[in-house]
Amino acid sequence: MPIINKCYSCDVELLNENSSIEHIIPRALGGKLKSSKLLCKNCNERYGYSIDAEIEKQLGTFAIVIGANRKKNKIELIDKDGEIGYFGKNMLTLPILDLKDSKTGEKKRISFNNYEERDKFVEEFKIGRESKGKTVEINVSDLAYESPLFFKNNISNKPGEFQFGGDLANRAIVKMLIGYYIKEFAIKHNVAKAIDFIDSKLDHGVQVRFHYIPILTYTPSENEISHVIMIKGVEERGLVYGYVELFNCFNFLVILNNDYDGKSFKKAYRNSLVKDFNSGPIDIDIPIDFTISGSVNYNQILMNNRINRLKNLIVNLKKD
Ligand SMILES: [Zn+2]
Repeated sequence: MPIINKCYSCDVELLNENSSIEHIIPRALGGKLKSSKLLCKNCNERYGYSIDAEIEKQLGTFAIVIGANRKKNKIELIDKDGEIGYFGKNMLTLPILDLKDSKTGEKKRISFNNYEERDKFVEEFKIGRESKGKTVEINVSDLAYESPLFFKNNISNKPGEFQFGGDLANRAIVKMLIGYYIKEFAIKHNVAKAIDFIDSKLDHGVQVRFHYIPILTYTPSENEISHVIMIKGVEERGLVYGYVELFNCFNFLVILNNDYDGKSFKKAYRNSLVKDFNSGPIDIDIPIDFTISGSVNYNQILMNNRINRLKNLIVNLKKD
């Protein structure tokens, strides 16, 4: 098998000075699988500012509340009001505290990276206040507002209100599958059309097709929160397709090549987002049992159940 030492997007030879570490599932979503043999620095940045940024905007909040996003500059997500925009609405906040001097009425707002940091501050603050007789008050309503329960109650799962997608997000899904395929097999011609798709050189639906699959899905264990990625080639069907499942909620089956003339293969990987489960190769099979021209209807009830499960798990994570 020829080893690719070229950027799969622009074909420039990858050398020390222009190579970059590509996260196959974006780091902003807690992605751990990475490779320095996929993209040159320029292309990595170009995708980073466009399609990766979009998926981070849509789903990055989940990684933050789970604590799976290890980016150091998390704080950038906070706007002036201490709130994160979520699907265009301000539905979730990072922890903040409003402090008020009861004598002067002067208010001060402090923001924190996580709930632990906030709780620690409150504990120390209470101790400090009692011992030194300070007259500062904590705004109790804000404490309630920022709790994980707020997340649970305010991330909507009503049909039409909780959607992930759009052209950039679809391209981000396909990009994950391309990265995973090339990392595993070090060849790109079997996914060349999909590369054209993420570069907008190919219309959606010409060869790269998305299918929502309501039933055929990876089944997470109790308390598991993970991303799952699978790529599969089926010799007798002449197909290469992939499966991506994010946060065990949002899943996609994508035809990457319907003119495949190689041997059958299958690779799958689990990217765990919680400490009780490992990340690594897994043995799963997401079969394709419908025709290429057909598609399966989106199942809102199943989607709501998955989101409810995730919300409950997140609330419980914060109790630990
Ligand atoms: Zn490049």
